[in-house]
Amino acid sequence: MNNLSNLYREVIMDHYKNPRNKGLSHDESYVSCHLKNPSCGDVIDVETKVVDGKVVDVRHDGQGCSICCAGASIVSEYSIGKTVDELKNNLSNYLKMVSNQEYDTSVDLDELQVFEGVKDYPARVRCASIATQALLNTLNSKEEK
Ligand code: ZN
Repeated sequence: MNNLSNLYREVIMDHYKNPRNKGLSHDESYVSCHLKNPSCGDVIDVETKVVDGKVVDVRHDGQGCSICCAGASIVSEYSIGKTVDELKNNLSNYLKMVSNQEYDTSVDLDELQVFEGVKDYPARVRCASIATQALLNTLNSKEEK
């Protein structure tokens, strides 16, 4: 990932070494999703807790490369406190950004922006998407409990 800026690389390594919100709750009030990325060996579980249309907690666990693990940590922090509607919109724009599609640049992606350079590395797009995709799946899978 040589053309990622140093700052971006630092943010990714910080989240990789000190993941936020790591460890599953196994609580019934969470909706969970399990995804694998066979091409890289990434395995991820994401749990989301929604109350009154708002994401109040996100937990994640898994194994994978630095991009995948940092992605899970960053998207968990990014998502807590946002409404489900806002998050669905913002995260779908994030997925477009990393897969080099046109996206709405007015959406504030905050630290998720560090993965913008991934679009130049097609083999890593799935690594940067998997946690976000799992989180979106939890938001789409069923109504809140
Ligand atoms: Zn990976």
